[in-house]
Amino acid sequence: MRSYWLKQELERSPAKPQPLSGDITADICIVGGGYTGLWTALHIKESDPSVDIAVIERDICGGGASGRNGGFCMTWASKAPLLYPVCGGQETVRMVEASEAAVRAIGQFCADNGIECEFRHDGWLWTASSEAQRDAWRGSIDVLDKLGLHPFDELSSDEVARRSGSERHIAGVYEKGTATVQPAALARGLARVCAERGVRIYENTSMTELGRSAQPYVRTDRGMVKATKVVLALNAWAHELPEFRRAIMPICADVVATSPIPEVLEKLGLNDGMAISDSRTMVDYYRRTADGRMVYGKGGGSFPFAGRVGSRFDTESSRPDDVRAAMLRNYHGLSDAPIVATWRGPATRTATGLPMFGRLKGAPAIVYGHGYTGNGVGPSYNGGRILAALALDRKDEWSECPLVGSEGKLLPPEPFRYLGGLAVRAAVRAKDNADDQERKSGLLTRYLAGLAPSGLTARTDDRN
Ligand SMILES: Cc1cc2nc3c(=O)[nH]c(=O)nc-3n(C[C@H](O)[C@H](O)[C@H](O)COP(=O)(O)OP(=O)(O)OC[C@H]3O[C@@H](n4cnc5c(N)ncnc54)[C@H](O)[C@@H]3O)c2cc1C
Repeated sequence: MRSYWLKQELERSPAKPQPLSGDITADICIVGGGYTGLWTALHIKESDPSVDIAVIERDICGGGASGRNGGFCMTWASKAPLLYPVCGGQETVRMVEASEAAVRAIGQFCADNGIECEFRHDGWLWTASSEAQRDAWRGSIDVLDKLGLHPFDELSSDEVARRSGSERHIAGVYEKGTATVQPAALARGLARVCAERGVRIYENTSMTELGRSAQPYVRTDRGMVKATKVVLALNAWAHELPEFRRAIMPICADVVATSPIPEVLEKLGLNDGMAISDSRTMVDYYRRTADGRMVYGKGGGSFPFAGRVGSRFDTESSRPDDVRAAMLRNYHGLSDAPIVATWRGPATRTATGLPMFGRLKGAPAIVYGHGYTGNGVGPSYNGGRILAALALDRKDEWSECPLVGSEGKLLPPEPFRYLGGLAVRAAVRAKDNADDQERKSGLLTRYLAGLAPSGLTARTDDRN
């Protein structure tokens, strides 16, 4: 199931997949043609154009989360309380600043290479839509203040209501570093530039076996790539490899898009590409598209037993009415706006709320990066830098950054994870409902909801 974004992009520029047929060699084989894999290829080519790279993609480039997301191209400022315990002060400052530079670099790269992905650098309004969410950003601001970083402007309630176009938003902060993009246009554009720079891209080609030897190989449905290095840029699908089964949890996120309603959105004051989210654990995130639609997403949907991704995330949203109801709770005025597209896709959560990078145990020629936990559009640019440095055996601030090899906490094994996950999700839903109605939820509900790992942002109780 293609997202509305990807369908729109494919109408403009149809895909011409070239599957791998036969056995080939490459210096570096990248498995996964989303942002992570494609930025890795581009960073490698930038650093050494002579490196021969083959990208293996099961679907078409952008067919995974990169072509289906909400298009928030965010920094890591809100994740400072998660970065600080892992990275320490100096490195947290570097990571946050590098994440801000990454958003600017993505915009510049698109401008330089004719990638028309509606990159709009209009910032992010991080709001509370209930009293319980008020000050959700305090943990992030406290850590950032301590480090001398001040990316968030605190706004009055009136200003938050005005900028968001709805009085349901009772408090909030604004960060100007965030941009928004048409996500599939970005992914397809990166793939085009990769091909122009000599990267061989094999779409409709699945890795069916990974050879974890000194000279690794990637067996595919109709061939094989022997490479000096392999980069696994598989996002949720990394879960299919035993090494990562307890490291990441694929969770479904759902998105709906209205028909174009520019006049209605203008009346609300929604004139640009500003990203807006609330602060519930199953976060609501929304924005106006360049062609005047409201796109509204909701995190925290279903998750599979034992994390088997399969094709369950490749359908229309299974809860479009819930997502629409969430949209109408914030924007009653959109009740007449038809929902013309719904879709879903796999986001990954890690126990730390941060992505992880490293070399496969016992097979150092295979490197991996995944687990952006709802915030990968911007950070995958630097994720690609980390993977490029690892694949090229460079010793630099990227290969040696504290996110490399820091697997952190493991998620519980099955069946405890699935059963526990169901209980936590029910508690989060109950708490979110109670918060919406300004009721206090029960102690057990709050305790269980508190076990949910951080998502798009660090939670208030994640502060150091
Ligand atoms: C609905 C939704 C909304 C989101 N909204 C946002 C947002 O607004 N902002 C934000 O920052 N993040 C968001 N995210 C997360 C963001 O999309 C991801 O963090 C980001 O796209 C990760 O890029 P990636 O390249 O690592 O993964 P992907 O784009 O998922 O790429 C992995 C690729 O690997 C391929 N693959 C898998 N298995 C194999 C195999 N065996 N062989 C070959 N190829 C294989 C897949 O087909 C896929 O194309 C959202 C995610 C979802 C699902």
